Amino acid sequence: MKAIDITNKKNNEEKLSYEEIAYMVNSYVKDKISDETMADFIWSIYYKGLSLEETYYLTDVMIKSGETIDLKSIKKPVVDKHSTGGVGDKITLIVAPIAAAAGVCVPKMSGRGLGLTGGTVDKLESIPGYKLKMSKKAFLDELENVGCAVISQSEKIAVADKKIYALRNEIGAVDSIPLIASSIMSKKIASGSDVIVIDLKVGKGAFMKNIKDATRLAKTMVKIGEYYNKKVIITLSDMNVPLGRNIGNALEVKEAVDFFKGKYDKRLYDLSVYLSALMISSAKKITFKKAKELVINLLESGHAKNKFNDWIKYQGGDLSKLRDKAKKLNVIATESGYVNKIDSLKLSKLVFDLGAGRVKKKDKIDYAVGVVLNKTLGDKVVKGDVLGTIYYNKKVVDMSDLLLNCYQIDKKKKNSKKIIIKTIK
Ligand code: URA
Repeated sequence: MKAIDITNKKNNEEKLSYEEIAYMVNSYVKDKISDETMADFIWSIYYKGLSLEETYYLTDVMIKSGETIDLKSIKKPVVDKHSTGGVGDKITLIVAPIAAAAGVCVPKMSGRGLGLTGGTVDKLESIPGYKLKMSKKAFLDELENVGCAVISQSEKIAVADKKIYALRNEIGAVDSIPLIASSIMSKKIASGSDVIVIDLKVGKGAFMKNIKDATRLAKTMVKIGEYYNKKVIITLSDMNVPLGRNIGNALEVKEAVDFFKGKYDKRLYDLSVYLSALMISSAKKITFKKAKELVINLLESGHAKNKFNDWIKYQGGDLSKLRDKAKKLNVIATESGYVNKIDSLKLSKLVFDLGAGRVKKKDKIDYAVGVVLNKTLGDKVVKGDVLGTIYYNKKVVDMSDLLLNCYQIDKKKKNSKKIIIKTIK
C-alpha cells in the first residue's frame, strides 16, 4: 500500500477499506509517514467526508492504537460523561459527584484545554494537592469507595487520536464531523463505560456553530456507539452565552463549590440537573422523572455536596488553598436596561488573554485569572451597577471595555433561548 494512493482514492470520493485506513493511521503513529503526508490525508477526509462505515473503521483503528480500560469488576452501574467544551463549562465538577451520590459510578478521564476554553484538568489543577494521575488499581479503588474519579486522560488511550488531533489543531482541520466523531468516540469507547452521556455544545462559543451540524455529529456518534453495543445519549446545549457566572479555572471551581452550597445560576442549574438525571436514569434504568427528583433531593439534602468534598479530598485536593490570587477590577454598566446577550466568544478571548488558556499543550496558564459575571442573561441593569469583575495578574489593554463589549443591554427584555436544545439517543 502507498499513502499517496489512499489519499488520492479519498480525493476521488472512493470508499476506503479498513486496511487502508489502518495503514495510514498506524504508519503515522510509527513515524513511517510524515506530518505533511498525513495532513494531505486528513484534508482529503475534511473535504470529501467519510461514510458511517469508514468513520467506524477510523474509530476502531484509533481505539486499537492504545490501551482499553476494563471496568467489568465494578458492580455498580457505570456511566461516562463527556463535554465538547464550552465557555465556563464546569459541569463535570457538578454532575460527577451528583451521579456518584445516586449510586452510579462515574469514571472520568478528562483533557486539558487547548485554544479558548479550559479543560477540566486545568480547573482541577487549580486545587493544590489534587492528583490527576493514578494507577489503574487506585482509579478502580476510588470508584469503588467514592463512586466518581476524575483523572487526566491516560497517554496510553487512543494513542493515534492524540497524534492526529494535535496535527488537526495545527493545520486547522478540527471542524470535520467524521474526524470529530471518531476522535471523541475512540477515547470514550476505550475508556470502558457501557453508557456514555455527551453534552454537545452549540453556538458562538463552541466548535459546532449550528444545530444542523451538531445534530449530524450527534447521530454519527450514537451510531458508532451501536457498533460497540454502547448506549450513547447526546444532549445539544446552547453555548451562545457562557455557562454559569464564573469563567477561569479556579473561579470555576469556586462556582462549583458555591453550587453545592445552594447558590445557583439558573442556566447552570438547569443543565446540571438535566445531565445528571440523564446519567442516572440511563445507568440505573429508571425513568428520567424519578432520576430528576432524586437529583433535586441529593442537592437539597447536602448528600451531593458531601460527595463532592469526599471526592476532592480522596484525590488529595485542598479546597481551602485554591490557586486564586489575583487583583480585581469591577466593570460598571454605562447604560440601563436588560441583558439580552453575552457574547461567549468575545468573553473567552478576554479570559484567554488574561492568561487562563494556552495555545500549545505545554504552555503555562494562570489558574487565578478570569471573569465573574455579576449580571447575566435576562438581568435588569441600572447604569452604575457592577456588570462583572475581572480577575487579573497582568493587565490586558482596554480590558474593561472588552468586558463591556461582551454585553448587549437593551431597553426591552427579550426571551432568552433555553439552555437545553434537544437530546438524541
Ligand atoms: N474533542 C475531541 O476530543 N476531538 C475532536 O476532534 C474535537 C473535540
